[in-house]
Amino acid sequence: MSVRVRFAPSPTGFVHIGSLRTALYNYLFAKQNNGKYIIRVEDTDQTRLVEDAVEGMIRSMEWAGILHDEGPFIENHKIVQKGEYGPYIQSERLSIYSKYVDQLIDSGNAYYCFCSRERLDDLRETQRSRGETSRYDGHCRNLDINEAKKRVEEGEEHVVRLKLPENKDITFEDVVRGTVTFNTSDLDDQVLIKTDGYPTYHFAVIIDDHLMEITHIIRGEEWLSSTPKHVNLYEAFGWEAPKYVHLPNILNSEKKKLSKRQGDVAVEDFNRKGYLPEALVNYITLLGWSPDDEREIFNMSELIEHFHLERVSKSGGVFDVQKLNWMNNHYIKEADDDRLTQLAMKYVIGSGIINDEDEKNKYDWVKSIVVLVKEKLDYMMQITQYVQEFINDEIEVLEDEAKEMIAMEHVKVLLTEFDARLKDLEKFDAESIKQVIKSLQKDLGIKGKNLFMPIRVGVTGTVHGSDLVETIKILGKEKTSKRLNSIIIKL
Ligand code: GLU
Repeated sequence: MSVRVRFAPSPTGFVHIGSLRTALYNYLFAKQNNGKYIIRVEDTDQTRLVEDAVEGMIRSMEWAGILHDEGPFIENHKIVQKGEYGPYIQSERLSIYSKYVDQLIDSGNAYYCFCSRERLDDLRETQRSRGETSRYDGHCRNLDINEAKKRVEEGEEHVVRLKLPENKDITFEDVVRGTVTFNTSDLDDQVLIKTDGYPTYHFAVIIDDHLMEITHIIRGEEWLSSTPKHVNLYEAFGWEAPKYVHLPNILNSEKKKLSKRQGDVAVEDFNRKGYLPEALVNYITLLGWSPDDEREIFNMSELIEHFHLERVSKSGGVFDVQKLNWMNNHYIKEADDDRLTQLAMKYVIGSGIINDEDEKNKYDWVKSIVVLVKEKLDYMMQITQYVQEFINDEIEVLEDEAKEMIAMEHVKVLLTEFDARLKDLEKFDAESIKQVIKSLQKDLGIKGKNLFMPIRVGVTGTVHGSDLVETIKILGKEKTSKRLNSIIIKL
């Protein structure tokens, strides 16, 4: 039987990096088994839908390079569905579910429940005040089926509930957790069909996974306690359940589940800041899975080769943004300069440092800055602060260390002479600039720190920075001169 796996997001907004990891593990497992990776949209909770969330999700996945074989795709700004097991959007499958509900009711594995919201609220309140977990008390469990059907036909508001056997152990195998057992006395008679006629997740997921011939369910551990209900439903239908793989949570530094409150957790946030998708993918794969050696850097095809479900850990990995930054910096250093520059342009224009019309003229200039500073970047958005440093014609010296450097006696002559010799250059390239500095060393008898630091402060205002000669080259003859003079005048 060939492997078929699915990522089944509910379109409730942004894509959490935990969801990206779930999608990724599904994808890697499918690809290494020549199987199919499917996206199915679980939108049966109509109250939680967020407009455009499906498009956003698909775009995030495309950005990350986690490409599905079946499901919804975006073509010409529209969602189109591809694959032989569709529709892949649950709200378009309502007619499919209804037939299976009848089957469950007739076989005694589900029942109509007419309890009003008030009754259920009171029940919950009473259970809470007694310190009990809130669950349905079985009030409608044993209604006469014909009586119940009549009430339904008469239009009485109702839901359909799963009829779990009493006090029965339900056991299943989980690839990560081994044998897992729950007793039905700890489980609720789950609502399968809501008053609005929509199935709940628990019902739709069973029907769809079965009809879509899903072989492995790889999902977050928050679904583990729902699995016995699902297993019970498979049994009720006489279907074979898929294999289960419950992934550990991604944790924050306090070892709690990573949530939006702790800063960036959405794939969109990382995309927006200019993280490279291959870095994010590489990093999140390691939050829950580890290879059998110390290796950390993997591209997608290497992940497909090395990833193993058997090595997914039970305990969650801690999301460490420093580590992600380190990895992203690694990928930035390796990336093609034009790719980085195109990304950089977006930020440089977005922050207003240059305008749209200048885009073509300034491309090479931005590229030279990217090449100069890329080893310092954690993510591409940071490029703006570096580009900004090349903008002003005049500079201010604010740091004490820098002030000391230009307070030295020889500095006025040094900078004046430097300016004059640069002006004489025909070619303003790195080699010529280097020669000018060398000639100053020889002619003025100044060397080392006393030579380089005042020049650096004279052109940048600070003692820190990237390669000096490259910086001067990028600034250009005119701006370098203006900057030097804005300092010289104050000496
Ligand atoms: N729709 C569920 C979610 O949003 C999917 C759970 C599953 O994979 O079964 O997480």
